[in-house]
Amino acid sequence: MSIVETATELARQQGAARVIDVTLRIGRLSCVHEEALRSSFMLARETTPLAESNLTVIPVPVRIWCPRCHAEQELTDIQRFACPVCATRSCDIRAGRELELESISLDDFTRETTDGDTPHS
Ligand SMILES: [Zn+2]
Repeated sequence: MSIVETATELARQQGAARVIDVTLRIGRLSCVHEEALRSSFMLARETTPLAESNLTVIPVPVRIWCPRCHAEQELTDIQRFACPVCATRSCDIRAGRELELESISLDDFTRETTDGDTPHS
């Protein structure tokens, strides 16, 4: 799985031994089922720095461009590509196909930077 490879590569670049958290953005149209994704993530991460990491999934809603409203509208029903406000049909999809790495948090990276001026919010 390329997500695991990307995160492993990032961890190596930062000199981190372990990845603590992995956050993904997944669009509702990306044809990715969260359950299936989680089980393949569990398998793919085994011999990598991600072996004990947490997987967080941020679902991305589907947005279409409505030519009548001249605006992006969020679909409530992904079976019907029509504007939820004025019911105009549109296949101009602006969001919802994402499958991307949003962020990762690294073990050693965090430790190495805490002797500096890490802001506490
Ligand atoms: Zn509309």
